Amino acid sequence: MRKPIVAGNWKMNGTLESIRELVAGLKAGIGEVNVAEVVVCAPAIYIAEASALTGGTAIALGSQDLSNAASGAYTGEISGSMLNDFNCQYAIVGHSERRHGRGESDQLVAEKFKAAQDSGLTPILCIGELLEEREEGVTEQVCARQMDAVINAYGVAALQNSVIAYEPVWAIGTGKTASPEQAQEVHAFVRSHIAKQDQLVADGVRIQYGGSMNAANAAELLAQPDIDGGLIGGASLKSEDFLTICRAAG
Ligand code: PEP
Repeated sequence: MRKPIVAGNWKMNGTLESIRELVAGLKAGIGEVNVAEVVVCAPAIYIAEASALTGGTAIALGSQDLSNAASGAYTGEISGSMLNDFNCQYAIVGHSERRHGRGESDQLVAEKFKAAQDSGLTPILCIGELLEEREEGVTEQVCARQMDAVINAYGVAALQNSVIAYEPVWAIGTGKTASPEQAQEVHAFVRSHIAKQDQLVADGVRIQYGGSMNAANAAELLAQPDIDGGLIGGASLKSEDFLTICRAAG
């Protein structure tokens, strides 16, 4: 059985004060989340504070990105080992806001995936198609290409210590959610694509859905057989909404 995993991606939102309030709300309700693993991905500058706030709780900490390099002359970048120093366990890589908003290539994302694992972090590999790609009927090709960048470089076994987040780009922050059937179809494809190379890895890897998941639609999405959790943007900024999603995950 795959343990569901729900991760909040706070993006570039919040203040020191609002983050303290948000984590206090999460801590108050986390005891009612029985099964799911819960992660919050804080903005880099608040990682230290989030680490102190979540330490000793059932809330794991993640970063929203990391450098593909281990150390050196990379102004503005943050390495996996630095994140490790603050007890980060997860790192999002390849979020569409970085692939499409910051021009990150499949290869760079794959390198970040490896850098996360090399530092003992579990990468959350985001994949997903643009609206025009869905309309052209190439959703599966896009997701396969984004996964293959990792598989071809580091082997299918590298996916064992990772989480995949299927996030149709047209659904992120738009209020347009993929229907449970649409999401399940792609999740099943993602798993079958991995199974072509390794059935055990495919059976074990957790695949989150992301894209306007909220307290109202989470249960239906999370009930799909190949949806193992959620990567949550907007709805992760309100503790009650995020906890409702976590409870719906199990
Ligand atoms: C995300 O940022 O990964 C995301 C899914 O955002 P939202 O839930 O706001 O669509």
